[in-house]
Amino acid sequence: MAIGARPAPGSTLHKAFGTLRECRGAHTLVYGPPTARAVPPPLPSPISSAVTLDSLLAEIRDCRACAGELPHEPRPVVRVSPATRLLICGQAPGRRVHESGLPFDDPSGDRLRAWLGVDRDIFYGDPAIGVAAMAFCYPGTAAGGGDYPPPTRCAALWRTRLLAALPNVALTLLVGGHAQRWALGPGAGSMTETVRAWRSCLPAVLPLPHPSWRNTAWLRRNPWFEAEVTPYLRQRVAAMVG
Ligand code: SF4
Repeated sequence: MAIGARPAPGSTLHKAFGTLRECRGAHTLVYGPPTARAVPPPLPSPISSAVTLDSLLAEIRDCRACAGELPHEPRPVVRVSPATRLLICGQAPGRRVHESGLPFDDPSGDRLRAWLGVDRDIFYGDPAIGVAAMAFCYPGTAAGGGDYPPPTRCAALWRTRLLAALPNVALTLLVGGHAQRWALGPGAGSMTETVRAWRSCLPAVLPLPHPSWRNTAWLRRNPWFEAEVTPYLRQRVAAMVG
């Protein structure tokens, strides 16, 4: 969806961005507030939303739009279901995830699971937990050691449709600056400013730093994050899983 376009009334995006309007750093948010709260639209039936999501996931699995631009064959990794209640929106798969096909199957995932208060069995086995990064394929690793940024084409192609096909999401985690900028628009503050304002994004959205080892120094400089944000996150997750 182009920046400035409005999500459909009643859609997951519409509800989430109505909340995000209040986030500090979102002062140029381009989406308007929900206008149909007084008469909420009917929820899609579980059967029709499952069919829609299944066919969409099949399309995503077959996507080769970045073939020739990536240093490898595209391998989209996305893990959601109609039962997804916690949606984790990160950056893009890393090399290990590209190889295993499991999102967050790496040290970043170990740190993320610690923040969530869940083990691997729950993370991969509970349908309430879904993962849909800003790009679904590993973008490759730059000469300096870090991964390339997620190809913006991926969100433009798939993101709006995918979020609209997940009607039961209660909490969206914006993990890292890429996900935060996409959700909050070009006027979003820095990752630190956005995460500091976490309370003003609740209850539908929670911005987090990326759990990569590259943010270990950031976590040391910002001890309030693990003292205040992760206990809240664990409490929300515990109410949604199992
Ligand atoms: S990154 Fe996204 S758009 Fe590009 S090939 Fe993978 S699924 Fe398709």
